[in-house]
Amino acid sequence: MNDLQKRTWAEISLPNLKHNYTMIRKALPEGCRFLGVVKADAYGHGALPVSLLLQEAGADYLAVSCLDEALELRSGGITMPILILGHTPPEYTKLLIDQGFTQTVSALAKAREYSVAAGALGKTLKIHIKLDTGMSRLGFLCRGDYFNLGVNNVIACCHLPNLEAEGIYTHFSVSDETDEESESYTREQFELFCQVIDTARERGGVHFAIRHCANSGAVVHYPEMALDMVRPGLLLYGYGDDSGRLGLKPCMRLVTTVSTIKHYEAGTSVSYGRHFVTDRHTRMGVLAIGYADGLPRILSNKCSFAAAGGFAPQRGNICMDMCMVDLTELPQTEVADEVEIFGPSNDLNALSEAAGTIPYELLCAVSKRVPRVYIEE
Ligand SMILES: *Cc1c(COP(=O)(O)O)cnc(C)c1O
Repeated sequence: MNDLQKRTWAEISLPNLKHNYTMIRKALPEGCRFLGVVKADAYGHGALPVSLLLQEAGADYLAVSCLDEALELRSGGITMPILILGHTPPEYTKLLIDQGFTQTVSALAKAREYSVAAGALGKTLKIHIKLDTGMSRLGFLCRGDYFNLGVNNVIACCHLPNLEAEGIYTHFSVSDETDEESESYTREQFELFCQVIDTARERGGVHFAIRHCANSGAVVHYPEMALDMVRPGLLLYGYGDDSGRLGLKPCMRLVTTVSTIKHYEAGTSVSYGRHFVTDRHTRMGVLAIGYADGLPRILSNKCSFAAAGGFAPQRGNICMDMCMVDLTELPQTEVADEVEIFGPSNDLNALSEAAGTIPYELLCAVSKRVPRVYIEE
């Protein structure tokens, strides 16, 4: 980034990322593999730099959402296994195989299409089978009355030619919630997952080298569910309610600068809609960040940001490229000074709560206009 253009940027701490990886890895049972979830540009942290670090650090697998995200990693020098979590049209089977990607399969009809396409090439596509144990999203149905059908479909899938079913996985819907009902739901999901795998082995003689189900919530709350591989995303980046307890560190610090400072008399309305009116002589700063940078407009008048001398309450509607903050109590803050939107001084979890959302969404929202600046040490 050109220093003269300093406007708004996201500092990404690679040492913190390495630290988080090491801490999570240390807590895993011996022999358990580590898959780093780097979908959505590694939750806004930059998929390639994050993946290169994980590859170097010795992670076993990466996961992305779609083919384009996987291709970005391969062309950037990532040689490790990459699992595509979403659907890829069978027309791309050759590309999947040539690039060595692992494709999720969540229905028998799709497995058949991949099998035919791979057969026509005389090659084999590596797949992981996805079970729907209660998330009700992608995956083979296997709950309740669907159990036998689910098991039989999994077996059929494994017996198709030109497919190599290396793994099987499922996804938890409430593993990060600690109430009793959520806990029993997660345990039910886990038991069903294990039952399908066991029954498929007994009935169909199929064996999976990599069984995995633990997302961030499960890595923290259910270490006994690690199986052959864990699949954390948010935790790796140092966020979530339990990240502090594990000694993890947030990797992103979103920083903006003060563009100008003006003084208003009491009774002055501020920004679009005139939803804030000063009630005293006010020293108001304009920050170079708005909703086009990823600061949600819903936070208008509901948050504070960390300046050098303390917290500056945000005032008036957040605009596309700017927003205003009250600097009356922070006389030492000057034009061009840095203001932290979230990071070590301003907790992302609290900001997410104020926005009525989750830290995931605010991280992904940091837009491509915001340069990522990688901190090496
Ligand atoms: C996004 C995702 C994860 C990671 O979830 P976190 O809550 O960020 O740990 C794991 N598995 C699947 C299938 C996902 O889609």
